[in-house]
Amino acid sequence: MHTKTGLHRWVSRANPLTVKALSLVPSYHTYRQMYALLQRSQWWSREELAAYQSRALSRLLDHAYENVPYYRRVFRERGLVPEDIQSPEDLGLLPFLTREDLQTNLPDLKARNYPDSAFEYVTTGGSTGIPVGFYYEKGVSRAREWAFMKTQWDRVGYRFTDRCVVLRGYTIESARDGVYWKKTLCGRWLLMSSHHMTEETLPAYIDRIKRFKPRFIQAYPSVATILARYMREHGIEPFPTVKAILCGSENLYPWQRDLLTEVFGCRVFSWYGNSEQTVLAGECEESTHYHIFPEYGIVELIGRNGQPVQGTGAMGEVVATSLTNFVCPLIRYRTMDVAVLGKDSCTCGRQYPLLDKVEGRLQEFIVTRSGHLISVTPINYESEAFENIRQFQMYQEEVGELIMKVVRKPAYTEKDTRQLTAELRCQLGDGVNVHVRFVDEIPRTQGGKFRYLIQKLPISLGDL
Ligand SMILES: [Zn+2]
Repeated sequence: MHTKTGLHRWVSRANPLTVKALSLVPSYHTYRQMYALLQRSQWWSREELAAYQSRALSRLLDHAYENVPYYRRVFRERGLVPEDIQSPEDLGLLPFLTREDLQTNLPDLKARNYPDSAFEYVTTGGSTGIPVGFYYEKGVSRAREWAFMKTQWDRVGYRFTDRCVVLRGYTIESARDGVYWKKTLCGRWLLMSSHHMTEETLPAYIDRIKRFKPRFIQAYPSVATILARYMREHGIEPFPTVKAILCGSENLYPWQRDLLTEVFGCRVFSWYGNSEQTVLAGECEESTHYHIFPEYGIVELIGRNGQPVQGTGAMGEVVATSLTNFVCPLIRYRTMDVAVLGKDSCTCGRQYPLLDKVEGRLQEFIVTRSGHLISVTPINYESEAFENIRQFQMYQEEVGELIMKVVRKPAYTEKDTRQLTAELRCQLGDGVNVHVRFVDEIPRTQGGKFRYLIQKLPISLGDL
């Protein structure tokens, strides 16, 4: 489907309110330029994409060498100059950048040729336990990100004029007065508090969504799951106006995709990225593989020996180099995310590299007695064993031992405990002892996300 959205044509037809809403997007010019490029580049051949990446990489490395003290040092220590790295395959000459490196060297990672006013300080979450701070280019990084996001959402027909319900990590000020949502972007987006969704308040949420008539729901998968489970349990029909659920910022597990597809009766579209803006990959019109944007960053999957893994089905840590952030370059940044390489090409015609799936954060693996790592991705929380469980969370602080915290529904009995233990043994094997513990409540993270596994053991790439 080679649809070309004529943004200029569209803006000229749009009403003044829409244009005003768009001006909320900082640096509209940056947005427009990037978006226009992506309209063309997504259909480029593999050779054209490779040539683009090599040029962008050279520009980045020249700049980092000239203007970024940290990278000047890295090059010098290795006796290298930017010309030694001609293409992404040569990136292995440079070291990884870990979160710790980023934290320790942040002042030296700021490009000296930008004024102070160009830097926007950003911090990102503790989902890996290591909060990290870095810089965006003020007014530019976010606009560019929008161009990529819009290009992805175009694949499921998203338009700026569409009404959209947003179920991400928001806390709404008025929630204290019993109003759990607020409108933004000239009334087109309805932000709903993810912190107040309970059995008591969900009927009001559902009623509000119905009246709002959204065309899309943007959601953290874990938040959409809370709504979906309630709707299924109470036999509530799908919202007739909703065309797709746009899922991001958290891993979308297969059981969640099935649940959301069933309850909302529409396409569940997922993308993978990070706040550091080093990697962005999304599904397309025709498949659920993640298409990596080569214009956004260079992605390597690194195996346990520190070398890139090759071939469909190979698993490794995502190491990514941002091609768009020049104020604070992140080169070979270790994301701590684990992903699996996809097949060579997709039927949609884009020649982007593909990820088959994202297994999640390194911290989302369970460690068996023998030290092996097991992904929690295949566990089916929709199976019968979870029927009488309101909420749960896995917790590991000892090798081979897993604590399953459970909030029971009234019908829960001893039989459910046996069933749950058996189900987990079946999924995780004999290398993990499961202990069920009853609790009254499971808190969400400060960012409003929900974590299915709290992993206290340190996990590193070498364990994969
Ligand atoms: Zn595709």
